[in-house]
Amino acid sequence: MKLKNKIAIVTGSRRGIGQSIALELAKEGAKVVISDIDLKECQNVCDEIKKIGSDAIAVKCDVSKKRDVDAMVKKTIQKFKRIDILVNNAGVVLMKPFVQMIEKDWDFVLGINLKGVFLCTNAAAKQMVKQKGGKIISIASIAGEVGFMNTSAYCASKAGIINLTRELAMELSPHNINVNVVAPGVIATKMTEDMLKDKKTKEVLLANTPLGRVGQPEEIGKAVVFLASDDSSFITGHTLVVDGGWLTH
Ligand code: NAP
Repeated sequence: MKLKNKIAIVTGSRRGIGQSIALELAKEGAKVVISDIDLKECQNVCDEIKKIGSDAIAVKCDVSKKRDVDAMVKKTIQKFKRIDILVNNAGVVLMKPFVQMIEKDWDFVLGINLKGVFLCTNAAAKQMVKQKGGKIISIASIAGEVGFMNTSAYCASKAGIINLTRELAMELSPHNINVNVVAPGVIATKMTEDMLKDKKTKEVLLANTPLGRVGQPEEIGKAVVFLASDDSSFITGHTLVVDGGWLTH
Protein backbone atom coordinates (compact mmCIF):
# COMPACT_ATOMS: atom_id res chain seq x y z
CA MET A 1 0.00 0.00 0.00
CA LYS A 2 1.33 3.40 -1.04
CA LEU A 3 -0.30 5.55 1.64
CA LYS A 4 -0.38 3.29 4.71
CA ASN A 5 -1.54 5.33 7.75
CA LYS A 6 -1.21 8.66 5.94
CA ILE A 7 -3.82 11.21 7.04
CA ALA A 8 -5.76 12.90 4.25
CA ILE A 9 -8.40 15.64 4.12
CA VAL A 10 -10.62 15.70 1.01
CA THR A 11 -12.98 18.66 0.68
CA GLY A 12 -16.35 18.27 -1.05
CA SER A 13 -16.11 14.51 -0.70
CA ARG A 14 -19.65 13.38 0.04
CA ARG A 15 -20.14 12.51 -3.64
CA GLY A 16 -18.66 12.75 -7.14
CA ILE A 17 -14.96 13.16 -7.75
CA GLY A 18 -14.25 13.95 -4.07
CA GLN A 19 -15.84 10.69 -2.94
CA SER A 20 -13.80 8.69 -5.46
CA ILE A 21 -10.60 10.45 -4.41
CA ALA A 22 -11.34 9.57 -0.77
CA LEU A 23 -11.99 5.92 -1.64
CA GLU A 24 -8.87 5.58 -3.81
CA LEU A 25 -6.72 7.13 -1.04
CA ALA A 26 -8.28 4.75 1.50
CA LYS A 27 -7.61 1.72 -0.74
CA GLU A 28 -3.92 2.65 -0.49
CA GLY A 29 -4.15 2.75 3.31
CA ALA A 30 -4.87 6.44 4.02
CA LYS A 31 -7.19 7.52 6.83
CA VAL A 32 -9.51 10.15 5.41
CA VAL A 33 -11.43 13.19 6.65
CA ILE A 34 -14.62 13.32 4.57
CA SER A 35 -15.69 16.92 4.53
CA ASP A 36 -18.47 18.73 2.71
CA ILE A 37 -20.75 21.74 3.02
CA ASP A 38 -23.49 19.30 4.04
CA LEU A 39 -22.88 16.32 6.34
CA LYS A 40 -25.59 14.39 4.45
CA GLU A 41 -23.96 11.38 2.73
CA CYS A 42 -20.55 12.01 4.37
CA GLN A 43 -21.18 9.21 6.87
CA ASN A 44 -21.94 6.77 3.99
CA VAL A 45 -18.51 7.50 2.53
CA CYS A 46 -16.92 6.95 5.96
CA ASP A 47 -18.75 3.61 6.25
CA GLU A 48 -17.42 2.52 2.83
CA ILE A 49 -13.89 3.45 3.87
CA LYS A 50 -14.24 1.41 7.06
CA LYS A 51 -15.39 -1.56 4.93
CA ILE A 52 -12.16 -1.20 2.91
CA GLY A 53 -10.32 -1.57 6.25
CA SER A 54 -9.18 2.01 6.81
CA ASP A 55 -10.54 4.79 9.03
CA ALA A 56 -12.50 7.99 8.34
CA ILE A 57 -14.37 10.81 10.03
CA ALA A 58 -17.05 13.12 8.64
CA VAL A 59 -16.65 16.87 9.18
CA LYS A 60 -19.00 19.60 7.99
CA CYS A 61 -16.99 22.36 6.31
CA ASP A 62 -17.88 25.17 3.94
CA VAL A 63 -14.48 25.83 2.36
CA SER A 64 -15.32 29.49 1.77
CA LYS A 65 -15.59 30.11 5.53
CA LYS A 66 -12.36 30.46 7.53
CA ARG A 67 -14.04 29.44 10.77
CA ASP A 68 -15.24 26.14 9.22
CA VAL A 69 -11.84 25.45 7.65
CA ASP A 70 -9.97 26.09 10.91
CA ALA A 71 -12.41 23.81 12.76
CA MET A 72 -11.89 21.05 10.14
CA VAL A 73 -8.11 21.21 10.54
CA LYS A 74 -8.46 21.24 14.35
CA LYS A 75 -10.76 18.17 14.32
CA THR A 76 -8.36 16.35 12.00
CA ILE A 77 -5.42 16.95 14.32
CA GLN A 78 -7.49 16.05 17.41
CA LYS A 79 -8.48 12.72 15.86
CA PHE A 80 -5.42 11.74 13.77
CA LYS A 81 -2.61 13.98 15.17
CA ARG A 82 -1.34 15.13 11.75
CA ILE A 83 -2.19 16.04 8.12
CA ASP A 84 -0.13 14.37 5.38
CA ILE A 85 -2.37 15.05 2.38
CA LEU A 86 -4.80 17.86 1.57
CA VAL A 87 -7.02 17.50 -1.49
CA ASN A 88 -8.80 20.74 -2.44
CA ASN A 89 -11.69 19.24 -4.37
CA ALA A 90 -14.81 21.24 -3.40
CA GLY A 91 -15.99 23.32 -6.32
CA VAL A 92 -19.01 24.82 -8.04
CA VAL A 93 -19.78 25.86 -11.59
CA LEU A 94 -22.09 28.67 -12.68
CA MET A 95 -23.14 28.92 -16.33
CA LYS A 96 -24.16 32.44 -17.31
CA PRO A 97 -23.26 34.81 -20.15
CA PHE A 98 -20.58 37.23 -18.91
CA VAL A 99 -22.69 40.37 -19.45
CA GLN A 100 -25.42 38.92 -17.19
CA MET A 101 -22.98 38.13 -14.38
CA ILE A 102 -23.45 40.14 -11.19
CA GLU A 103 -21.00 40.68 -8.35
CA LYS A 104 -22.75 38.04 -6.21
CA ASP A 105 -22.25 35.38 -8.93
CA TRP A 106 -18.54 36.16 -9.18
CA ASP A 107 -18.06 36.16 -5.39
CA PHE A 108 -19.95 32.86 -5.05
CA VAL A 109 -17.76 30.97 -7.53
CA LEU A 110 -14.43 32.58 -6.62
CA GLY A 111 -15.27 32.32 -2.89
CA ILE A 112 -15.52 28.53 -3.06
CA ASN A 113 -13.22 27.59 -5.94
CA LEU A 114 -10.28 29.92 -5.28
CA LYS A 115 -10.65 31.47 -1.80
CA GLY A 116 -11.58 28.00 -0.55
CA VAL A 117 -8.29 26.64 -1.88
CA PHE A 118 -6.45 29.54 -0.20
CA LEU A 119 -8.15 28.98 3.18
CA CYS A 120 -7.72 25.18 3.26
CA THR A 121 -4.15 25.26 1.95
CA ASN A 122 -3.18 28.06 4.33
CA ALA A 123 -4.52 26.18 7.36
CA ALA A 124 -3.15 22.76 6.37
CA ALA A 125 0.25 24.07 5.21
CA LYS A 126 0.90 25.58 8.66
CA GLN A 127 0.55 22.09 10.13
CA MET A 128 2.63 20.51 7.32
CA VAL A 129 5.43 23.04 7.91
CA LYS A 130 5.51 21.93 11.58
CA GLN A 131 5.59 18.28 10.45
CA LYS A 132 8.32 19.07 7.87
CA GLY A 133 6.40 17.59 4.94
CA GLY A 134 3.12 17.02 3.12
CA LYS A 135 1.29 16.79 -0.17
CA ILE A 136 -1.24 19.35 -1.39
CA ILE A 137 -3.32 18.51 -4.46
CA SER A 138 -5.96 20.82 -5.87
CA ILE A 139 -8.59 19.87 -8.42
CA ALA A 140 -8.69 22.52 -11.14
CA SER A 141 -10.07 21.79 -14.63
CA ILE A 142 -9.19 21.99 -18.30
CA ALA A 143 -11.28 25.18 -17.96
CA GLY A 144 -8.26 26.60 -16.15
CA GLU A 145 -6.17 26.13 -19.31
CA VAL A 146 -8.61 27.14 -22.07
CA GLY A 147 -11.87 29.11 -22.23
CA PHE A 148 -15.31 27.51 -22.02
CA MET A 149 -18.42 29.48 -23.04
CA ASN A 150 -20.52 31.13 -20.32
CA THR A 151 -18.31 30.04 -17.41
CA SER A 152 -16.12 33.14 -16.90
CA ALA A 153 -15.90 32.93 -13.10
CA TYR A 154 -15.25 29.17 -13.21
CA CYS A 155 -12.47 29.54 -15.81
CA ALA A 156 -10.86 32.37 -13.83
CA SER A 157 -11.03 30.41 -10.58
CA LYS A 158 -9.48 27.27 -12.07
CA ALA A 159 -6.69 29.22 -13.84
CA GLY A 160 -6.07 30.92 -10.48
CA ILE A 161 -5.60 27.53 -8.79
CA ILE A 162 -3.06 26.48 -11.43
CA ASN A 163 -0.81 29.52 -11.01
CA LEU A 164 -1.28 29.69 -7.23
CA THR A 165 0.04 26.12 -7.22
CA ARG A 166 3.20 27.08 -9.12
CA GLU A 167 3.86 29.88 -6.62
CA LEU A 168 3.15 27.67 -3.60
CA ALA A 169 5.48 25.00 -4.96
CA MET A 170 8.28 27.59 -4.76
CA GLU A 171 7.38 28.75 -1.24
CA LEU A 172 6.69 25.35 0.28
CA SER A 173 9.44 23.24 -1.31
CA PRO A 174 11.94 24.15 1.44
CA HIS A 175 9.47 22.56 3.87
CA ASN A 176 9.32 19.30 1.89
CA ILE A 177 5.73 20.03 0.79
CA ASN A 178 4.75 19.12 -2.79
CA VAL A 179 1.94 21.19 -4.29
CA ASN A 180 0.27 19.99 -7.49
CA VAL A 181 -2.93 20.19 -9.52
CA VAL A 182 -5.10 17.60 -11.24
CA ALA A 183 -7.05 19.15 -14.13
CA PRO A 184 -9.94 16.89 -15.17
CA GLY A 185 -11.74 16.95 -18.49
CA VAL A 186 -15.40 15.91 -18.63
CA ILE A 187 -16.15 13.49 -15.80
CA ALA A 188 -19.50 11.81 -15.09
CA THR A 189 -20.79 13.43 -11.86
CA LYS A 190 -23.78 15.48 -10.70
CA MET A 191 -21.94 18.59 -11.92
CA THR A 192 -22.08 17.39 -15.55
CA GLU A 193 -25.30 15.32 -15.31
CA ASP A 194 -27.55 17.83 -17.12
CA MET A 195 -24.99 18.47 -19.89
CA LEU A 196 -24.54 14.75 -20.46
CA LYS A 197 -28.31 14.13 -20.53
CA ASP A 198 -28.58 16.49 -23.48
CA LYS A 199 -27.80 14.34 -26.55
CA LYS A 200 -26.37 17.18 -28.68
CA THR A 201 -24.18 18.57 -25.90
CA LYS A 202 -22.88 15.10 -25.13
CA GLU A 203 -22.01 14.56 -28.81
CA VAL A 204 -20.00 17.80 -28.88
CA LEU A 205 -18.20 16.92 -25.63
CA LEU A 206 -17.27 13.46 -26.90
CA ALA A 207 -16.19 14.83 -30.29
CA ASN A 208 -13.70 17.03 -28.41
CA THR A 209 -12.36 14.09 -26.38
CA PRO A 210 -9.96 11.97 -28.47
CA LEU A 211 -10.52 8.93 -26.25
CA GLY A 212 -14.20 9.25 -27.22
CA ARG A 213 -15.76 8.83 -23.81
CA VAL A 214 -16.53 10.63 -20.58
CA GLY A 215 -14.08 10.09 -17.70
CA GLN A 216 -15.02 8.32 -14.47
CA PRO A 217 -14.45 9.87 -11.01
CA GLU A 218 -12.09 7.04 -9.99
CA GLU A 219 -9.77 7.98 -12.88
CA ILE A 220 -9.24 11.31 -11.08
CA GLY A 221 -8.88 9.47 -7.76
CA LYS A 222 -6.02 7.38 -9.15
CA ALA A 223 -4.20 10.49 -10.45
CA VAL A 224 -4.53 12.02 -6.96
CA VAL A 225 -3.10 8.85 -5.37
CA PHE A 226 -0.05 9.19 -7.63
CA LEU A 227 0.51 12.81 -6.58
CA ALA A 228 -0.10 11.96 -2.91
CA SER A 229 2.40 9.09 -2.91
CA ASP A 230 6.21 8.89 -2.96
CA ASP A 231 5.97 7.85 -6.63
CA SER A 232 5.72 11.57 -7.42
CA SER A 233 8.38 12.76 -4.93
CA PHE A 234 10.23 14.96 -7.50
CA ILE A 235 7.05 16.54 -8.93
CA THR A 236 5.86 19.91 -7.65
CA GLY A 237 4.08 22.92 -9.15
CA HIS A 238 2.75 20.63 -11.87
CA THR A 239 -0.68 20.34 -13.48
CA LEU A 240 -1.56 16.75 -14.31
CA VAL A 241 -4.22 16.89 -17.02
CA VAL A 242 -6.65 13.94 -16.98
CA ASP A 243 -8.95 14.73 -19.87
CA GLY A 244 -9.01 11.90 -22.43
CA GLY A 245 -6.94 14.13 -24.70
CA TRP A 246 -9.20 17.25 -24.80
CA LEU A 247 -6.26 19.70 -24.56
CA THR A 248 -4.34 18.07 -27.40
CA HIS A 249 -6.14 20.17 -30.04
P1 NAP B 1 -20.10 17.60 -7.57
O1 NAP B 1 -20.63 16.25 -7.87
O2 NAP B 1 -21.01 18.78 -7.68
O3 NAP B 1 -19.42 17.55 -6.13
C1 NAP B 1 -18.90 18.70 -5.52
C2 NAP B 1 -19.10 18.58 -4.03
O4 NAP B 1 -18.55 19.79 -3.42
C3 NAP B 1 -20.60 18.54 -3.66
O5 NAP B 1 -20.84 17.61 -2.64
C4 NAP B 1 -20.85 19.97 -3.21
O6 NAP B 1 -21.93 20.12 -2.31
C5 NAP B 1 -19.53 20.28 -2.52
N1 NAP B 1 -19.41 21.72 -2.26
C6 NAP B 1 -19.95 22.76 -2.95
N2 NAP B 1 -19.66 23.92 -2.34
C7 NAP B 1 -18.92 23.62 -1.25
C8 NAP B 1 -18.34 24.39 -0.22
N3 NAP B 1 -18.49 25.72 -0.18
N4 NAP B 1 -17.64 23.76 0.75
C9 NAP B 1 -17.51 22.40 0.73
N5 NAP B 1 -18.06 21.61 -0.20
C10 NAP B 1 -18.75 22.22 -1.19
O7 NAP B 1 -18.89 17.96 -8.54
P2 NAP B 1 -17.67 17.08 -9.09
O8 NAP B 1 -17.88 16.93 -10.54
O9 NAP B 1 -17.43 15.92 -8.22
O10 NAP B 1 -16.50 18.17 -8.92
C11 NAP B 1 -15.44 18.05 -7.98
C12 NAP B 1 -14.33 19.00 -8.40
O11 NAP B 1 -13.87 18.63 -9.70
C13 NAP B 1 -14.74 20.46 -8.51
O12 NAP B 1 -13.71 21.30 -8.07
C14 NAP B 1 -14.96 20.65 -10.01
O13 NAP B 1 -14.80 21.99 -10.41
C15 NAP B 1 -13.86 19.75 -10.55
N6 NAP B 1 -14.06 19.33 -11.93
C16 NAP B 1 -15.13 18.56 -12.28
C17 NAP B 1 -15.28 18.16 -13.61
C18 NAP B 1 -16.40 17.29 -14.08
O14 NAP B 1 -16.51 17.08 -15.31
N7 NAP B 1 -17.23 16.75 -13.22
C19 NAP B 1 -14.34 18.61 -14.56
C20 NAP B 1 -13.30 19.40 -14.17
C21 NAP B 1 -13.15 19.75 -12.84
P3 NAP B 1 -23.34 20.74 -2.87
O15 NAP B 1 -23.91 19.71 -3.73
O16 NAP B 1 -24.17 20.98 -1.67
O17 NAP B 1 -23.02 21.99 -3.62
